[in-house]
Amino acid sequence: MNQSHQGIGMTSQRTRDRLVRRIIEGGVKDHRVLEVIRQMPRHIFVDEALASRAYEDTALPIGYGQTISQPYVVARMTELLLQGGELKRVLEVGTGCGYQAAVLSQLVEQVYSVERLQPLVEMAQRHLRKLAIRNVRVSHSDGEWGLEDRAPFDGILVAAAPEQVPESLKEQLAVGGRLVIPVGPPGRQDLLLITRTEEGFQQQVLDYVSFVPLVGGVS
Ligand code: SAH
Repeated sequence: MNQSHQGIGMTSQRTRDRLVRRIIEGGVKDHRVLEVIRQMPRHIFVDEALASRAYEDTALPIGYGQTISQPYVVARMTELLLQGGELKRVLEVGTGCGYQAAVLSQLVEQVYSVERLQPLVEMAQRHLRKLAIRNVRVSHSDGEWGLEDRAPFDGILVAAAPEQVPESLKEQLAVGGRLVIPVGPPGRQDLLLITRTEEGFQQQVLDYVSFVPLVGGVS
């Protein structure tokens, strides 16, 4: 990576290593995920004015009332998806600035990501191009309906919280596929892991998390 991706001062490797240590303390164990977080230049995904805070373990504003997810949560959700074995096709709902999609791109074959706000679709595409990431397709649509023409998926990761699990997302899982999704009212949601089996679906509640709400329709 070139100098601007490497970062200096508050975006240096030392600062990134400190972030990874915090994520390990939080309980994330998967070395592949930790290594990708260590390498990924998160400061590229936020406004320049916030670049010095890019390696804090917190969500940050990205405009349009949305946020870049907390790195710990990105790491945890990615780890949960990967525990199911090798992933070829993954759907992300709620691209935002594209950080989670970029992390996934290093660990799976093909990422499809959908976002309901057109300016964020363009922002994410810009960030991914800057990093020469080519295995993420971002599209402008309402992710509540999944992405039927690309289904089935080995993994689906939802980065915004609905009040209930949308049936269409479950239906677009391959057998053995995993859906990681925050569910519940604003402020406090359960992070669910839903696995599709030959017989149906298994569901586990894993953590409490706080995501922006999943909103219907596009704009
Ligand atoms: N994945 C991002 C976090 C995005 S925040 C990251 O890596 O930081 C959640 C995003 O979900 C917001 O950009 C919001 O606009 C989007 N969103 C909310 N409801 C949606 C829906 N129904 N379909 C697609 N995107 C949605």
